[in-house]
Parts: sequence; C-alpha cells; structure tokens
Amino acid sequence: MISLSSWLKRHPLEDGQEIRVDELGRSESDSLHVVQIRTKEEPHAYDRNDLVAILKRGEGTLFLGSRKMRLVPGSIVYIPKGITHSFINKSPRPAVALVVFSPPLGAAEPEPPTPVPSAGNIQGGPILDLTQELVEGIPLFPGGVPFRKEAVARFEKEGYLAYRLELGEHTGTHLDAPAHFWAGGQAAHEISPEQMIGPGICVSIVKKVEKDPDAVLDVKDLMEWEKSNGSIPAGAHLLIQTGWSSRWPDEKAYRNSDPKGKMHFPGISPQGARLLVDRRAVAVGIDTLSIDPGASTQFEAHRILSRANIVILENLNNLDRLPAKGFTLVAAPLKIRGGSGGPARVLAIFSREEEQR
Ligand SMILES: [Zn+2]
Repeated sequence: MISLSSWLKRHPLEDGQEIRVDELGRSESDSLHVVQIRTKEEPHAYDRNDLVAILKRGEGTLFLGSRKMRLVPGSIVYIPKGITHSFINKSPRPAVALVVFSPPLGAAEPEPPTPVPSAGNIQGGPILDLTQELVEGIPLFPGGVPFRKEAVARFEKEGYLAYRLELGEHTGTHLDAPAHFWAGGQAAHEISPEQMIGPGICVSIVKKVEKDPDAVLDVKDLMEWEKSNGSIPAGAHLLIQTGWSSRWPDEKAYRNSDPKGKMHFPGISPQGARLLVDRRAVAVGIDTLSIDPGASTQFEAHRILSRANIVILENLNNLDRLPAKGFTLVAAPLKIRGGSGGPARVLAIFSREEEQR
C-alpha cells in the first residue's frame, strides 16, 4: 500500500489520464469521488478526512480557507479536513474533479499526508524577495545573537564548500512564533503551511515616520487603508511599511538610540494590533527590528498578536516596492522544534490574475 502523495510524485497526472483505483493499492471504493461542478460550488468543509482533489476538466478559482488559487486541468490541491472551500468554474463546460479522501490510502504509512506540489496552485507572476541578507555585522535587537559563518570545508582543501553558522532565532529577517511572547503558544515547528502563505496587504506610514521616528501604525491608519482598499480580509498577511529599511545595515541608524540608550523606531500601537486580531489577520510584518516601537518597554503588540496566534515578521526589506494589496505573501521559518521563531525567507508573489488589475 502506498500513499496518494508518493504515488502522484512518481506518476505526474496528464490531462485525460484516468487513475485506476487498484493502482493505488487500496480497496475502499468509496474513497475516490468524481465531482462535477457546473459553475459555482457552495462553500463547505469535510470534517472526516483530508482530501486531494485533481482537476480533470474545467478552469476556475478555488477558495481554500483564506487562500485563493487558480486551477487548470492537471492542478492538484491538498485540502486539510475542516478547511472551508469552494470552487467557481469559469469554463463553459462542467468542471470535473477527482476527489480522493486520503487517510485510507495512506493508512499503512506513518507519514502524514503532505501538500502535493503543483505548479498550477500559484500561477507564475513576478516574485519580489522581502528578505535581508544574512551577513556579519547586521543590526540586532539588544541582546540578539550576531550572525557568523565559518568555513568547515573549502574547495582548496576538501574539494567542496560548506559553512557552520551561528545566529539567533531572531537574527535578520525572521518570524516570531506565538511561543515567543505567549507561554503555550505555537512554537516554530508548529507553524502550519496555511500560516506561511496568504493574501498580502501593505500599509504605509512612511509620511508619519518622516516627521516622527516614534510613529506607530494606529487604528486610524488601518481605517484609512480600508476606506481606499476595502476591508482587510480574514487571513490577511499585513505588512507595515515605515521606510526604516533604508537605514539597514547601519545598526546605529537602525536602532536610533538616544543618549540614554532608549531606541526610537516605528512600530504598531496596541490598539492597531487589537484591530488586526478582530480582522482575523494571520501574520503581521514590519521593516524594523520589532513590531513594537523602539521605545516600548512592555511589548504590548507582541503580546496581543502572539496571544491571538498571529505570527510576526521583522526586519523585512523592499516593502516600498509593494502595492497596497494584490499579492500573495510567503514567509517560511526554519522548522526548529520548540523554537520561539526562526530566520525566514519572505516572498511576495504576484499572480497573473492579480497582475491584470
Ligand atoms: Zn523576533
């Protein structure tokens, strides 16, 4: 008996190809369904099993939790149980999908079902890297662990190149897991793929920060954003553009400490953080050392967001190149067991559909 995901890895599905149930080495005939979707499917969720759906015919948009994906024939999607999903078919003929309830297929294997990679899930638009480079001397929050790398193998001697690294979980562009400020919150290894990918939003407070380095993103800024762009969608990955990344990698300018050692850089207010909890944001990111302003001593925004299971992204780059909305944010931290966060590669992906706006 093999799992569907490992079977599909070895047998990429071609358009028009049928999967014979016995090829998958299983017997329960009720586990494979053929679903016809004429135009619009009502939002629903299966609570019993995870699903793998393969679109055989038709074309359209799948809404999966807070995510939106374009599906074309051959697209394969993994739908975790309990996640609300619906599909809008935009082709003239009814769409046909094969839906496989995965647990009986993988039951003999200990590995949990993993998302099946598919080029059909994210259509290739331009991709913008929002990550700072890890290099010696980059700015740190006081008490942070400096980045160091040391060669353990060189071409001249060993014939290949490799380094050992030293850095903190919160060095460079990184993700704060809820466990960072909430005992019992999700740790780095528990961050789910659904929390790492979502609809991106960018709110600029650059003008306020130019006048006052202690400026914060407040309720008023979010309301103004909503007035011009519509309400912040549930599941949003909201980024705060402050203009501060222009000071990177000058630690003195980036920390901006006064003679007494108090730092002065922008952040988000506790009220702003609470509004994002109400709007059911999934991630909140910023282009400074901390989501709380530099002068904060209580780290209220960290506490409010962590308590609501919202992940935080810090030391982001290139936010000045983002539109107010219309991109997918990807932020994947290292999978450190029990970690309070981890260095992350953060990307903004513009889908073809979004590009056309
Ligand atoms: Zn952090």
